[in-house]
Amino acid sequence: MNHNHACHCDHHHNVHQHHNIAERMQDAKAHCEARGVRFTPLREEVYNLILEAKKPLGAYDLISALQSSRHSSGAKNKNIAPPTIYRSLEFLLNEGLIHQLSSMNAYVPCCHPRSQHVAAFLICQKCDSVEECSNVPVDGITEFAKNDAGFEIERAVIELKGVCRACR
Ligand SMILES: [Zn+2]
Ligand SMILES: [Zn+2]
Repeated sequence: MNHNHACHCDHHHNVHQHHNIAERMQDAKAHCEARGVRFTPLREEVYNLILEAKKPLGAYDLISALQSSRHSSGAKNKNIAPPTIYRSLEFLLNEGLIHQLSSMNAYVPCCHPRSQHVAAFLICQKCDSVEECSNVPVDGITEFAKNDAGFEIERAVIELKGVCRACR
């Protein structure tokens, strides 16, 4: 399935102004089914939290959100072990559903879910808004890596830090 043009925002947009969350969840499920990978309830919950969040979430934000939802639902097993969360995050990263922002140590949903694209983000240091602008070509770098340096890229995230239009 090609989601490249599912977005009306060809150039960039704030990753937290989501299109329909339910729709993106359906897309993710269909994607996992087509790939023959398991979208377990925990992975689904983690993905949903990242989709619903108003800002990039760290692993510990996710753990506390999951724990409080376990508390309110009266579940027996309220503790969420960090390695479980990291495994779910790793899964979502590998499936291209989310991106990791290393500079903030946080996760955001991918606006153009398709596997193995170079993700580029504009991160405002004043308001923490994050825009994904992954449709802008960065072929020069990736071709250099592959062809000249003989380097196999596993994950590519470009993080540009600065001040957004609204904050300037
Ligand atoms: Zn992306
Ligand atoms: Zn800003």
